[in-house]
Amino acid sequence: MVSYLVVGLGISGWSFVRLLREKGESFIVVDDGKPGASHVSAGFYNPVILKRFTPAWKAHEFLAYALEQYKKAEKDYGRRLVYPLKIYRKLASVEEQNQWAVASQRPVLSHYMRNVVFDPLEGIEAPFGFGVLENTGMVDLQSLLQEERNRLKKEKRLIEENFEYSTLIIKDKEVEYKGIQAKHVVFAEGYGVKRNPFFNYLPLTGTKGELLEVELARSLDKIIKSGIFLAPIPWKNTSLAGATYEWKDKTNIPTAQAKEHLTKKLKKLYKLPFRFVQQYAGIRPTVIDRRPLIGSHPHEKTLFVLNGMGTRGVIYAPKMAEYLWRFIAHNDSLPLHINISRF
Ligand SMILES: Cc1cc2nc3c(=O)[nH]c(=O)nc-3n(C[C@H](O)[C@H](O)[C@H](O)COP(=O)(O)OP(=O)(O)OC[C@H]3O[C@@H](n4cnc5c(N)ncnc54)[C@H](O)[C@@H]3O)c2cc1C
Repeated sequence: MVSYLVVGLGISGWSFVRLLREKGESFIVVDDGKPGASHVSAGFYNPVILKRFTPAWKAHEFLAYALEQYKKAEKDYGRRLVYPLKIYRKLASVEEQNQWAVASQRPVLSHYMRNVVFDPLEGIEAPFGFGVLENTGMVDLQSLLQEERNRLKKEKRLIEENFEYSTLIIKDKEVEYKGIQAKHVVFAEGYGVKRNPFFNYLPLTGTKGELLEVELARSLDKIIKSGIFLAPIPWKNTSLAGATYEWKDKTNIPTAQAKEHLTKKLKKLYKLPFRFVQQYAGIRPTVIDRRPLIGSHPHEKTLFVLNGMGTRGVIYAPKMAEYLWRFIAHNDSLPLHINISRF
């Protein structure tokens, strides 16, 4: 008998597993090994919404906790995962310059938003300058997930398969899955939850996103945000350009339309030559009210969900995992905004 069966090893499942390790809980993970949103994510952490210059919901509060967990993982895995990088938001007008100056004085935002600068960046024209963000950066999610996966495999705690919901036997105070007994199941399948008969009633809409990996004639040392973003990948010698937002197509297959769209935008932003390397696509687990989906099944009290990280899994997932663990292990209440009981 183990305490937990965790389904899905994206950043949500990872955050929960890390917590279980810290607390000395017993667990088994089931993951199909297919690349989910976390595997294609740019890995940015930035608590400021750069369209409106407003803070993303509780992102400042949750970021500190998340970075702590990633730093611990760096030590544990013996490799670098967190890369602080400034973001340069290209400003479009004098009006935007003024809006930036005003917003940067506000509480929370002042922790990130700095002055407007006119630094010359090779290949990028910005007659109205850039609003600079600090205390932002990128997490190498691919390596972080691979490290944990390797460890779980070595410990024989990873079942690499598609979780078969129909074979789950639910008893009064435990479940059984293919001969494994567990006290709790935590479902962290990202958009895959749509195939989960216990939680597919939740209003997870899903937003497809695509990215291009490119090689720039002159590489950058900061993230540039204009219509799209252009970012160096510090752990590779390439850059990322993206992303798209698409609500109809729910496959994670890269499309020619997205490639064309992003290439066009990139040419507008970056005036020097670049070479296409690769294209990525994934479904962001976005929710109607833009809040995470955490909690227990309305009737089956052994089943739990950890989902709805939306566009900011890097910032939200570790804290959401902690909320869920406290809810299960200590009976602590969940904040109303994230509790699935709201649906
Ligand atoms: C293009 C793009 C760019 C993004 N950029 C950023 C960014 O810069 N910063 C940021 O914070 N967020 C970003 N996001 C959002 C972020 O990726 C998500 O919030 C986050 O990855 C969600 O993590 P998750 O673990 O909940 O889901 P996922 O990462 O999708 O993980 C779920 C895992 O469960 C597995 N699974 C599903 N069903 C089953 C099953 N039945 N059996 C076994 N395994 C199963 C899947 O294969 C998958 O690996 C981006 C997303 C996209 C698509």
